[in-house]
Amino acid sequence: MSAGVDLHLHSTCSDGLLEPAALMAFVASCGVRACALTDHDTTAGLATAAAAARAHGLVFIPGIELSARWHAGTVHVLGLGIDGDSRALATAVAALAALRAVRAAEIRARLDRAGAPGSAAFAHIPPGVVPTRMHFARALAALGAVPDLQAAFRRWLGHGRAAHVAAGWPELAATVEVIRAAGGVAVLAHPLRYRLSAGQRRELVRAFKSAGGTGLEVAIGGAAPRQVEAAAGLALRAGLEGSAGSDCHDPALPWHRPGRLAKLPQALVPVWNRWLSTNRAAFEA
Ligand code: AMP
Ligand code: MN
Ligand code: MN
Ligand code: MN
Repeated sequence: MSAGVDLHLHSTCSDGLLEPAALMAFVASCGVRACALTDHDTTAGLATAAAAARAHGLVFIPGIELSARWHAGTVHVLGLGIDGDSRALATAVAALAALRAVRAAEIRARLDRAGAPGSAAFAHIPPGVVPTRMHFARALAALGAVPDLQAAFRRWLGHGRAAHVAAGWPELAATVEVIRAAGGVAVLAHPLRYRLSAGQRRELVRAFKSAGGTGLEVAIGGAAPRQVEAAAGLALRAGLEGSAGSDCHDPALPWHRPGRLAKLPQALVPVWNRWLSTNRAAFEA
């Protein structure tokens, strides 16, 4: 286990439960020394998080988790070390916000049509956040329509269910391009979570690399050792660097606890090596 580096975290600016500043305090209390805030499709929390991170002695890498399309499916691309003020990124984020607004309205309507309290759930989503399926799931659970989050995905929001809406996310290659234009490095998030065959997965990773991707998320919150090995194998085969992130959304979930991650396998180049000069000790904890 390694606790020092965590480059995948969510705040209330997207579907996390902690405000950016509270998240940084929590992350520091978990023993993390270097971290990235990577909210879905928004940079709104970066300035506040950066200031809070500084106050807690954390090395802060500004990040984002962008929703993208590869063939017919959705993939998530982390942009790490991005310039939060980048024009190219702001344009992409505005387009994603518009897509998400339309999609959330459609999810709401489909839930209502399916006999679930879609409109009531929609009303639970705080204004100004990036609306995700996670918000609907939490609201449906809070309303008592399902016993828990997982049930909301199983019953309504998951792939193939009545309120699953396939958004027209931007293409993978365009997404990588935006991250690079914003001065960041692109890391393909949780590569084993996509509904793909082994061959398709290798093809995705190859396509990501040829589009200009730099890293693959290998040490992931809650991953079993053989999953870390499998992701490391994919990275090595494609010539990608390795990244580490808990994907923490909720401080109460122990398997996504910040910094609670497998060590990156020795053979991989850590994606964070490029930031070592900022504070080497923070990355070696
Ligand atoms: P969206 O980007 O709107 O499709 O929402 C995706 C988010 O929902 C992910 O980032 C996760 O936080 C959450 N999510 C998706 N599937 C599940 C699931 N089966 N269980 C719990 N959370 C999920
Ligand atoms: Mn999420
Ligand atoms: Mn994700
Ligand atoms: Mn995430």
